[in-house]
Amino acid sequence: MRIFSSEGIVINKLRYLESDLIITLFMKGEGKIKAIVKGGVNSRKRFPGAFEIGNTGEFGLVDKNHYQLMHVSHARIDNYLITLKKDYGKIVLLFYMAGITDALLSEHHTHPLLYDNLLYTLNHLNQNGDEPAASETQAAASSQLLDRVRLFYELHLLRETGILPALDKCETCGTPLSGGPMYFVIKTGKFVCGSCRSAAADTVLIPAAIVQLAHAVTARETGIHAFLDTHVPHAVFNATTQLMGNYIERPLKIWRMIDTLQP
Ligand SMILES: [Zn+2]
Repeated sequence: MRIFSSEGIVINKLRYLESDLIITLFMKGEGKIKAIVKGGVNSRKRFPGAFEIGNTGEFGLVDKNHYQLMHVSHARIDNYLITLKKDYGKIVLLFYMAGITDALLSEHHTHPLLYDNLLYTLNHLNQNGDEPAASETQAAASSQLLDRVRLFYELHLLRETGILPALDKCETCGTPLSGGPMYFVIKTGKFVCGSCRSAAADTVLIPAAIVQLAHAVTARETGIHAFLDTHVPHAVFNATTQLMGNYIERPLKIWRMIDTLQP
């Protein structure tokens, strides 16, 4: 039997039987972990509101053996990010980021840098853009801001899971793409050069700024602010969605939310 604790983020929560919860945690030291909270549904004293999606803090776990789910022994929540609920766009984004993280990570593989990025992104969401939109222009600006926050985390997640291509050469002919234009082929989800573009049916130009940002993500250079100042064309959001769609097979409730997030 192993007893341990680690900082983590709740990325999923399901009711199990009468009164238990099965939660999925993304833990800095342990990666993605599923665990059972005995009596978690009614336990307002022991774990008041501890297992809402987006909560961050320290979670204690008891691992009895390989054949049973771990048990949650304690939780100390630092941040109840569910309070983003005041802002519908932010709460959808929170559930979406938790959902794609849950869907794309395998259990028990650690991703400490991605963990830091998710925490950083969620905190950014929590701390910024709280002013209610006074006009349609402001509302549109706030929605564009959320889209870029989303892209920031998506690129990190796709890079970490090996789904995002290096974007340094054409995926069809292998020609280096240093500085030249890059196109995304809608049907195949590949990033190709100008010559291979003509052979494909529908393609969209990927702006150089986005390619640079993707490289910066790889080099772990950039903070979120570089993203927030960049104009992101619609096609780029379609590209990340399609890349993920190739890997997420099971129906994902959160997946439908992407429609409400699309610019
Ligand atoms: Zn090519």
